[in-house]
Amino acid sequence: MSINFLSESQRAEKNAYFCPLHYYISNMKYYSTNKQVSLSTLKEAVLKGLADDNGLYMPERIPQLGSDFFASLHTKTLQEIAVEVAAALFGEDVAPAALRDIVHSALNFDIPLVKVTDNLYSLELFHGPTMAFKDVGARFLARLMQHFTRNERTETNVLAATSGDTGSAVANGFLGIEGITVTILYPKGLVSKIQEAQFTTLGKNVCALEVEGTFDDCQRMVKQAFLDKALNAQRKLTSANSINLARFIPQAFYYFWGWAQMPKGGDVVACVPSGNFGNLTAGLLAKRMGLPIKHFIAANNANDIFLKYLQTAQFSPRPSIATIANAMDVGNPSNFARIMDLYGCDYAKVTADISGYSYSDAQIREAIKRTFAEARYTLDPHGACACEALREYLKGNKAAKGFFLETAHPAKFKETVDDILGADIAIPEKLQAFMSGQKQTVGMSNRYEDFRAFLLK
Ligand SMILES: *Cc1c(COP(=O)(O)O)cnc(C)c1O
Repeated sequence: MSINFLSESQRAEKNAYFCPLHYYISNMKYYSTNKQVSLSTLKEAVLKGLADDNGLYMPERIPQLGSDFFASLHTKTLQEIAVEVAAALFGEDVAPAALRDIVHSALNFDIPLVKVTDNLYSLELFHGPTMAFKDVGARFLARLMQHFTRNERTETNVLAATSGDTGSAVANGFLGIEGITVTILYPKGLVSKIQEAQFTTLGKNVCALEVEGTFDDCQRMVKQAFLDKALNAQRKLTSANSINLARFIPQAFYYFWGWAQMPKGGDVVACVPSGNFGNLTAGLLAKRMGLPIKHFIAANNANDIFLKYLQTAQFSPRPSIATIANAMDVGNPSNFARIMDLYGCDYAKVTADISGYSYSDAQIREAIKRTFAEARYTLDPHGACACEALREYLKGNKAAKGFFLETAHPAKFKETVDDILGADIAIPEKLQAFMSGQKQTVGMSNRYEDFRAFLLK
């Protein structure tokens, strides 16, 4: 519902100074890609994560940014750009001052664009606390969730099962956020030391449960907790799932920033190392908002389900295969539903905007080796897929230039990268600090009843 008797400026003022009213005049609603449930508010979508019909939330309107905005983009900082894009998307639901604080606190690190070779650039998304791009979405989600729960008396408890990477981004994203506690469940002995250190040494509002079982046990226990009505009557539980709208949308910010840093003139393309396709979909959203990125390239490892779709028009999920770019080992990319939604399932339109490439482990190794030899640039295995895909694309499109998203610092995959380059790459201080922290975990069986009792304690 929209209330039309306030002018734009009056509305902005009310939003800023009289919080309760802004719920009445909030306009933007979110629908589920499965379209079996009614529209949700931003708050509902953020706290739920997944819609009740198992669909993914999408904004009912995609705001347009005008040519004035793009003309001045190159004079702005990352944070300034992000604030404006966030205001276009969330400005009807979050007051300007609050939204500005959320963006600045979430994006408290740089995202440099680094030249690798002629026409080919790396957008380094790994300068956040866990040195991977998931920091952007996780930090934004944590702060938006806090904004929506700040007046509630009971604590919100975020539950997350992890096989490694999600745990670190979520735990660090929520670290120190008042009113929210985080419980991470992970399989004992089955995550790497460096990953484990990133969510077990934090303390404060983060609690790590070391489960005697597998990742599937952890996930089953978390799912059961969400379905447990009696438990949910006593505890406010929520998830910080990667499909959460507030993790997906903020990833659009850095496409605007990356585009603005590129040399002027000619077509700009963007290449994204993809697993669940949240990152790529955020780029498509940016394009739909008016960002003139000419074309997108989806880089896959051997899990080439999306590439097969581009080649055959058939989407055939299958079990994932383990590769050295393991954060992209996804056999059923969940954000495929969002891409279909954005393009109205129009195969011709999808293939006009997106190309795909896939690489074996041997090809990923080769790309890391060659890029270091030719450009002295050290790629991580995920960025290597994207760098290689962009190189191949540019070979056939000589007038274009592009950037790829470097999604993790190579030291996060030190063993692999050292082995490929015959090197001993330095571990940044940020990662070392995790390693030297004190491990603090709670032992847990793989029985749901034990987990339940823990949550009620
Ligand atoms: C999660 C992840 C990806 C894949 O991102 P999606 O949004 O799931 O496609 C790529 N690289 C790294 C390092 C990741 O952690």
